[in-house]
Amino acid sequence: MPTLTRAEAITRAATIQVHEYEVDLDVTGDGDTFRSRTAVRFSAQPGAATFLEFEPVEVASITLNGTVVEAAAIGSGRLALDGLAEMNELLVDATMRYSNTGEGLHRYVDPQDGETYLYQHMFINNAGRILPSFDQPDLKASFRVAVTAPAGWLVAANGPVVANKDGRWEFAPTKPISTYLASLIAGPYHSVTDEHDGIPLALYARKALAEYLDADAEEIFTITKQCLDRYHEIFEIRYPFGHYQQAFAPEFNFGAMEYPGLVVFRDEMIFRSAVTESERERRANTMAHEMAHMWFGDLVTMAWWDDLWLNESFAEYMGSRITAEATRFPDTWTTFAMQRKAWGLRADQHPSTHPVAPASVSDTDQALLNFDGISYAKGAAVLRQLVAWIGDHAFRSGINAHFAAHEYGNATLADLLGAFAAASGRDLSGWADVWLRRAQINTLRTEITRDGDKYGEVAVLQTAPADYPTLRPHKIGIGLFDRTPDGSVVRRKRIEADVLPAGRTVITELAGERVADMVLLNDGDLTYAKIRLDADSNAAVPTMLPLLDDSLARAVLWAATLDGVVDGERPVAELVTMVLTALPVETEVIVIEDVLRATRGLVDRYSSPATRPAALELVAQATDRLLTACEPGGSRQLAAARGLIGSTVDTSRIQGWLDGVDVPSGLAIDDDLRWLIMYRLAVLGAVGLPEIDAEFARDRSATGEQWAARCRAAVPTAAAKEQAWSAIVGDASLSNRLAELTANGFWQPEQLDLLQSYVPRYFAEMPGMMRIRSGMSAERTAAWAYPDVVVEPSTRELAASLLARDDLDPILRRVVLDADDDLRRALNARF
Ligand SMILES: [Zn+2]
Repeated sequence: MPTLTRAEAITRAATIQVHEYEVDLDVTGDGDTFRSRTAVRFSAQPGAATFLEFEPVEVASITLNGTVVEAAAIGSGRLALDGLAEMNELLVDATMRYSNTGEGLHRYVDPQDGETYLYQHMFINNAGRILPSFDQPDLKASFRVAVTAPAGWLVAANGPVVANKDGRWEFAPTKPISTYLASLIAGPYHSVTDEHDGIPLALYARKALAEYLDADAEEIFTITKQCLDRYHEIFEIRYPFGHYQQAFAPEFNFGAMEYPGLVVFRDEMIFRSAVTESERERRANTMAHEMAHMWFGDLVTMAWWDDLWLNESFAEYMGSRITAEATRFPDTWTTFAMQRKAWGLRADQHPSTHPVAPASVSDTDQALLNFDGISYAKGAAVLRQLVAWIGDHAFRSGINAHFAAHEYGNATLADLLGAFAAASGRDLSGWADVWLRRAQINTLRTEITRDGDKYGEVAVLQTAPADYPTLRPHKIGIGLFDRTPDGSVVRRKRIEADVLPAGRTVITELAGERVADMVLLNDGDLTYAKIRLDADSNAAVPTMLPLLDDSLARAVLWAATLDGVVDGERPVAELVTMVLTALPVETEVIVIEDVLRATRGLVDRYSSPATRPAALELVAQATDRLLTACEPGGSRQLAAARGLIGSTVDTSRIQGWLDGVDVPSGLAIDDDLRWLIMYRLAVLGAVGLPEIDAEFARDRSATGEQWAARCRAAVPTAAAKEQAWSAIVGDASLSNRLAELTANGFWQPEQLDLLQSYVPRYFAEMPGMMRIRSGMSAERTAAWAYPDVVVEPSTRELAASLLARDDLDPILRRVVLDADDDLRRALNARF
């Protein structure tokens, strides 16, 4: 769909007001199209002209207020209208195309049973792929939906079903919602229902996942109820959209999407194989995140996409908070510190960095590009800092006043800051300027002088990158940790301090305090900053970290350690040594998983081809020690086994696991673990296409199909690589997910010789790939397909010449710009 500019949106909102979309879809046909009949009722300035987003395959009829509109009025994804009356009715009967990109009406055929599933995803500007619409967030309207579907299908939408007979489903009209929030699923979905506090609940997943949905329904419903209750305690307006349905759909682009009354999740979240507790925690967190949007995003919606960050930052903050406060996962802030903030921190240091709240977002393409670690994770970390600063009482009063003032309408950042300022009695404009309107990150560093065994002075030095010289106020915790004679580590003291927006802040409270073995800055992880400890504390980290019983403190230390390697301040070899000693005793699963993931990425790119095998061997040893140390059948065992499979070169050992030989006691070699082993064996050349095909014949599920695509791309033969590459850059029939996973399996540091010729091909052929894929999927495919393991100056030279082209797709430009910057860091660390 064509991008919509902010200027166009402002003009259109001043011209018209939309009241209702009456949508009637017929999805009974066999082909790749469906019928869409729509009535749009809207008022306008008499005589004015406007347009709707609309991309039909064929139009049967269009009338405006009873007068025929010629098909020539449609062009470039828009339907132009003029001569508007005060009240208007537009009637359109058209044929539309299903998509395989996760945008519009996505059509998926399950390889396991041949059943067809549809879901609608109109975000960010894809409503015109389904119906003619005024597709911008501040033109809210009621949606009245009817669908004619094959017999045996289930259809669900935002509103409740009011009639269902002979394959025709009719839904109650919604409250006023933005176009991007209209939701629909259709197919032979399996359902489970429940009820809580007067709110009907439902879950949907593909028939092939029925037994797994049934097995997890109780957990999912319990978390849903706990979150609803907690939101009802915090928010004064009750859940506003009637029922609460949660659907799990195939090949969904996001983790999930917050459609009011019908949330849609990617169906990888219905687990068919063993998963770790941290994966269950992440699912709970996603559920809590989407539920937060019901109020923030759905009930009160941003006026334009420049405040998209606010939706996501708020939901990300509330998701972690409510999961910790209301569910059986109290340690979500550890996950946030370890995983989510690292995502924000990386994005914030890329050349494409932008403020959390950009002053202006010119169009929908730009808005989609900003949908990154800054909008989610950094924004949430900044909100956490705001709550620490104004206090929770003011935060809650402010948010409730904001909802009451703007329910079923739209609001801006200025509205929200006004509500917080009124509730806290503080002027937030200076705070918002440095935290929200300015990009990049500060580094906080401790500087300590001693007076015998007491501290003379403890100071926090704050720095900023030269190009982004903003210093900020930080409310932080500082923890003093000591070794005890019995060999444990205790937190002797923790204080909260205000670090000034200045180069140096003296922490007067610590003067005269007995010297600690380690001083942890940002203890409790309240602020968003890079943390660097003093030399003595740093030296104590490898031995003290494993003994800290606070997982959040360990996460802050691990994050600082990993970040130091990324910045080239410490060698990757030092990290690997620390992994070998500290990881086998780590008890928090997310820490194990994330340290392994990050370390693996650094070993692959920061060590040279000559030193990598030895470094990887140490990672494999660390996972093997963990495997020996952990309890059978638990999450740590699963995380250790996955880590071992991913890093070992002992193919006969993991091949043996496939055949049931010497499998660690308690470890289930289930479908997904089998595929992980197949993937590693494929990378190492121990299995080829016939073995992968045989495994897919054994597991013809949706997940099996995805794993098979990833494994085939990893096979180190010229023919397999050529086939995978052609599919990535040239096969438009490949769905969003299969394209992404094929790209994901392609580049392997073990196969550098074989892959050399694909480095120039990336830069020559990726612009073409961008023309056959779109939106988020195109971005992800381009990112996974990047030759990031070929850490050579020549890769950077090719990137530079592509970036010099002025006709480059903006999504691809951003992917290359950031990936090239990662390569720059890796090169610097190597030489
Ligand atoms: Zn969200």
